[in-house]
Amino acid sequence: MIELIAGWSAYREQLEALEPDEALDHLLDEVTLCAPILRPGKLLGIGLNYADHVAEAALPAPTDQVWFMMPPSAVNGPRDPIQMPKVSLSLDYEAELAFVIGRRCRHVSRERAHEVIFGYCAANDVSVRDWQLRTSQVILGKSFDSHAPFGPWIVTTDELNDPHCLGIRCFVNGEKRQDSNTRELIHNCFDQVEHLSKVMTLEPGDVIFSGTPAGVGFGFKPPRWLAIGDVVRVEIDNIGFLENRVAAEPEVPYGT
Ligand code: MG
Repeated sequence: MIELIAGWSAYREQLEALEPDEALDHLLDEVTLCAPILRPGKLLGIGLNYADHVAEAALPAPTDQVWFMMPPSAVNGPRDPIQMPKVSLSLDYEAELAFVIGRRCRHVSRERAHEVIFGYCAANDVSVRDWQLRTSQVILGKSFDSHAPFGPWIVTTDELNDPHCLGIRCFVNGEKRQDSNTRELIHNCFDQVEHLSKVMTLEPGDVIFSGTPAGVGFGFKPPRWLAIGDVVRVEIDNIGFLENRVAAEPEVPYGT
């Protein structure tokens, strides 16, 4: 997939020239969707990037973009289980717009950032709040296996007129918990590309989670954590939805 993205300008013409083959058609219910990129070179997330989420976190608004990285082992498919950690009960959801880098780039202005974005996904920045908040670095609370589902596919930029006017919602067992719009992003996707690319070379297949609005479990008094069996649905207009059930962390013998 990363090779396809990197060579998209050449591959696109070939793909569009292919004759449709009905033998290759399948209903979505008949297939298993994996994450659109199984091993992103970089998987980054921005924190505190919707004003109403900053308010529910009872934190001062950051003066700069707040970033963390997640390991590729956190990647998860759009319909696959989210693991309830053995070491925590404070499991939480965060509906987010994600975007995928399409071109190797550095020092990209926000005005040109759209040129280096390949496409957009729905994402759930699943968070283990006690691990996230008990140290000054949030990374471990964002890094558990299976806690970065995204997809269900990549909607390429030519299919989206404006990534910054999309309704974004999260449901837990059918109950709406988050309901916002990507126009509310404090730092939009283009600002994020400008900022990150001052620091690091962005490469095809890098995946960036753009922040979550209010309504996460820890914003409730008392907090409403996810439990085994819960179904979390993240949906974004014109992109699609993720639906992940919470399941016990599997028994894995040491060393496998
Ligand atoms: Mg987040």
